Amino acid sequence: MYVKGVGPARAKMLEAKGLSVVEDLLYYPPFRYEDRSNVKTIAQLAPGEMATVIAEVRSARLSGLRRKNLGLFEAGFSDASRATLLGKWFHGGYLTSVIEPGQRVALYGKVELDSYTGELSMLHPEFEILSAEDGEGDAALHTGRIVPVHEAAGKVTARVFRGLLHRVLEALEPVPDPLPGDIVRRMKFPDLWSAIRHLHFPPPEADLRLLNAFRSPAQTRLIFEEFFWLQCGLSLKRQRARGAAGIAFELNGRVRERIKQMLPFKPTAAQKRVLAEIARDMASPHPMNRLLQGDVGSGKTLVAAEAAVIALENHCQVAVLAPTEILAAQHYLYLRKLFEKLGYVTVLLTGSMTAREKAQFKKLLAEGLVHVAVGTHALLEEDVGFKRLGLAVVDEQHRFGVMQRLRFIRKGVQPDVLVMTATPIPRTLALTLYGDLDTSVIDELPPGRKPIITRHVTEDRIEQVYSFLQREVQAGRQAYVVYPVIEESETQAMKAAQQMHRHLSETVFPGFRVGLLHGRLPADEKEKVMESFKQGETQILVSTTVIEVGVDVPNATVMVIEQAERFGLAQMHQLRGRVGRGAAQSYCVLVTGKLNEAGRERIRTLVESNDGFHIAEMDLKLRGPGEFFGTRQSGLPAMRIANILRDQEILELARREAAAFLAHPPSEEALRQATDYLRGHWQRRYGLVTVG
Ligand code: ADP
Ligand code: MG
Repeated sequence: MYVKGVGPARAKMLEAKGLSVVEDLLYYPPFRYEDRSNVKTIAQLAPGEMATVIAEVRSARLSGLRRKNLGLFEAGFSDASRATLLGKWFHGGYLTSVIEPGQRVALYGKVELDSYTGELSMLHPEFEILSAEDGEGDAALHTGRIVPVHEAAGKVTARVFRGLLHRVLEALEPVPDPLPGDIVRRMKFPDLWSAIRHLHFPPPEADLRLLNAFRSPAQTRLIFEEFFWLQCGLSLKRQRARGAAGIAFELNGRVRERIKQMLPFKPTAAQKRVLAEIARDMASPHPMNRLLQGDVGSGKTLVAAEAAVIALENHCQVAVLAPTEILAAQHYLYLRKLFEKLGYVTVLLTGSMTAREKAQFKKLLAEGLVHVAVGTHALLEEDVGFKRLGLAVVDEQHRFGVMQRLRFIRKGVQPDVLVMTATPIPRTLALTLYGDLDTSVIDELPPGRKPIITRHVTEDRIEQVYSFLQREVQAGRQAYVVYPVIEESETQAMKAAQQMHRHLSETVFPGFRVGLLHGRLPADEKEKVMESFKQGETQILVSTTVIEVGVDVPNATVMVIEQAERFGLAQMHQLRGRVGRGAAQSYCVLVTGKLNEAGRERIRTLVESNDGFHIAEMDLKLRGPGEFFGTRQSGLPAMRIANILRDQEILELARREAAAFLAHPPSEEALRQATDYLRGHWQRRYGLVTVG
């Protein structure tokens, strides 16, 4: 559809925000609302109140510091009441080209009175220039009502959005309501079209507080609906997967004997329980789709190895997918040793291997001469084929997008899939992310583990950390010193790590062997560094966060995290899990600069708790779901109006309703309509594939 006022330039800016079709625009919610229904004249303003006025700019000037951006920007306003109001903006240098005499402006802010001069002012008021020449002009849209404020997209301002949406809503036919009528009636929801209209242009009687809390009837309905379809989709997907034909692995006494033969230690009760759940899935004639959760160090890899033996003994191949080269190498070393005992061949396949090596492994894999392939996303490449893939293990799933997971699965004829994650996932997120998976939890650590002691130290006392490191290393232990990767820039972290490596190896600990590990090292180099640390030749390993997951060196007892204020809590908990894997007491030292109260609280969470679930909940609260999973590769379905954190109770409600609806649809027709709707919208909305 052609929308007046959207030329190529604006279309581009909108697209950068993910708004490419009209439907996207309809579901682009205002992030707040402003009450301009009660616009006052300046003369009517009372000191202390929050108010909106519409006035003309009379004067504008920048004063104060020479550095322009630090100056104080002041603009004088007046209106028909002839009274005057001063707007003040510190660091307002950028406003000189924005607010100019002659413009009509809506100002919203707290009214202040200078008791000395008697002058009325607003400090940093919200403002909107009303006299734009670009034809967004309909003043009735922007004042005299509760107005929506959409987050700007480039030069597409809140005001432009208002104009666009108004025109679009005028031009469109009402869209039919896909939500089952029974639910709409029972919940007393407005129909879809009213909800969309009221989302952007609340009716006169709307309650501003509810709007800004995202709980107006229109918002509630739209949030519910988004969760409802997501949950329906996940359920149907799960049903379908469960009904599909998969491999029914045979699990007899001989297979059990082989598993025992492989095991280096006695599994914990939790590991046994979880293996039983997995084995049951594998024996069934339908594909397994199971999520294995467990805190770091709980022994997930061992359980995965047991599951692998079931597949291998049934003449199938196994693929193990890891998010980083280090972790892939680590799994490879660990698993190769276990499977060697049984006569199975394991290979490592990563992106940084030479083309020749890769080609050779791929050939062996396709011919079935290699039994287990461990690797990074190199394993997902089109030309990687298996002779008979029976089990796919995906480690640290949240780092892989959903699509990647699917691509992997397609490599076998419905292989069983075991997804492992060491990041404890808060329940609400788990429901959303993994609603299509069955879940197993290892809730017990292997015996003999002592809780790790965690300390917070500020940079100015780093010497204490060094002498502590010295004592531990002299006692025969090993240590990690880790640097954060900031904003996905491995380069910066690598430089910091290189510097620290030089400092520690040359100045602080010239007598110790200090190793260096970062993401830019070639794969074989990484493997060498890891192997040397594993063998105890390297005593201190300086590293970027590449070691975050899965590295397993029981003799390492100290984890020093530099610039700990820059890490997420869940991530630090992961890092901490690299120590405390043997019988000796282990320590985690969090080094930070000076912190404010919020920063101290974050660090305190970690110092006081060893419980991954508690820490994950805190992390999620403090940073939001996007950050929590790392935005880009999160695999988190993109929500348009709903917010998983803010709207947890609506999510629960929608989940119950979706389950009830699918279990007892009011009619065949209603169910068919719903699945049709999902099929039409699912792919684009959530980036997932076929349902129903
Ligand atoms: P996770 O992957 O859950 O973080 P791992 O599988 O890497 O944990 O196991 C952590 C460490 O505990 C490894 O050194 C592993 O060999 C060891 N381990 C696993 N299970 C047991 C067990 N039942 N008894 C003793 N040690 C175990
Ligand atoms: Mg692991």
